[in-house]
Amino acid sequence: MPQHGAVMNILCKMRGHLPDRGGARHDGQDYWTACKRCAAPLIRDLDGWRPPTDHDVRAHGLNLVEQRGLSGSQGGDAASA
Ligand SMILES: [Zn+2]
Repeated sequence: MPQHGAVMNILCKMRGHLPDRGGARHDGQDYWTACKRCAAPLIRDLDGWRPPTDHDVRAHGLNLVEQRGLSGSQGGDAASA
């Protein structure tokens, strides 16, 4: 049973994460993927891939909700007129 996420792969520590570019997805704002070695989430920044901040994670969640059209109970007049 593989360890899940808690321990960063030693190679990731030394060289940085290994983004799975083929599996990258655009959430309407940024590209997201996971590290091939340790499965850590990664977001694409101007200089390359980096681990997301809490702010990024929250924005990503909101973007996904908007894409699925599941946003029901928050706000209202942002969408259309
Ligand atoms: Zn990694």
